[in-house]
Amino acid sequence: MPADHTPRHTRMLIIGSGPAGYTAAVYGARALLAPVLLQGLQPGGQLTITTEVENWPGDTVVMGPDLMLRMEAQAKHAGAEVIIDIVTHVDLSNRPFAVMTDSGQHWTADTLVIATGAQARWLGLETETRYRGFGVSACATCDGFFFRGKQVAVVGGGNTAVEEALFLTKFASKVHLIHRRGELRADKTNQARLLNNPMVETHWYSEVTDVHGTETPLKVEAITLSDTRDGSTRQLAVDGMFVAIGHVPATALFAGKVTMDDEGYVITAPDSTATSVAGVFAAGDVKDKLYRQAVTAAGMGCMAALEAERFLAHG
Ligand SMILES: Cc1cc2nc3c(=O)[nH]c(=O)nc-3n(C[C@H](O)[C@H](O)[C@H](O)COP(=O)(O)OP(=O)(O)OC[C@H]3O[C@@H](n4cnc5c(N)ncnc54)[C@H](O)[C@@H]3O)c2cc1C
Repeated sequence: MPADHTPRHTRMLIIGSGPAGYTAAVYGARALLAPVLLQGLQPGGQLTITTEVENWPGDTVVMGPDLMLRMEAQAKHAGAEVIIDIVTHVDLSNRPFAVMTDSGQHWTADTLVIATGAQARWLGLETETRYRGFGVSACATCDGFFFRGKQVAVVGGGNTAVEEALFLTKFASKVHLIHRRGELRADKTNQARLLNNPMVETHWYSEVTDVHGTETPLKVEAITLSDTRDGSTRQLAVDGMFVAIGHVPATALFAGKVTMDDEGYVITAPDSTATSVAGVFAAGDVKDKLYRQAVTAAGMGCMAALEAERFLAHG
């Protein structure tokens, strides 16, 4: 039977199924707004590609994919409608807002919560993907704790890489900063802190071209470094590799429709999730390049739903 694509209307449409989206769904449902949440290509969001999470309040340790299944179940239990579909087009020029999806469904919505998150930039190596969550990470705040007394590499040369490297010196026995060029892009204060830290060894003109380790258990043991000047290679023994070459917010859909900064993050009003379009709210990593945590994303999801509820009540 062909799918029924009769246009549907909702008071609150949530785009994205990470911690921000599911939390907005719980609060929206409890405010009796019967929210609809479209999950996107990655149901559960970024935490579905990690293993142990040790900083989610209330859980000493929880597997990322399990946590996200629980969030989904809670959102449904509260009364949200959760749908596997990808938003392909939005029109925010009039209210109700219009949204088209990959399945051909046409939605109209009185309020919209953008919770499409961000994705870490990776090096693109096959072995990097294999060891992701098993020694390869893009988040020192999340995973640094697992590397107490171990040697780790941080890849990158900007402020994020330098801050991640300095943060990791609290846990690791040694931090290797791997950078393709002969100088850092990070600001001078960060550079000085890094270069004066005896725990950090900087490997200039070096590119990671491979990650090595064991299969059972999946574990990183070394990386191959290639010299960007002459192509010579060498191995560096490390227990973990943190890729810190930036993030890409998932905001292509909203380009030119809500105000964004020059990196494509949605800009919201101070202490608020309100975007430049009245009735459209943004929560989580899609608007946050500072904290990038599940708990902060969830907090912003809560704010977005409460603000949407007030918007509907008062206009
Ligand atoms: C490997 C890894 C480990 C991490 N470990 C931790 C940790 O231990 N602790 C911690 O607090 N944080 C951790 N983080 C960070 C944490 O995952 C993020 O901060 C958090 O997931 C952000 O939540 P979010 O809801 O903003 O978006 P995301 O989790 O990024 O979810 C975005 C959602 O938007 C959906 N979407 C995107 N485009 C569309 C579209 N067009 N239509 C519909 N849906 C769409 C996606 O399918 C996805 O469901 C980790 C991140 C990674 C990558």
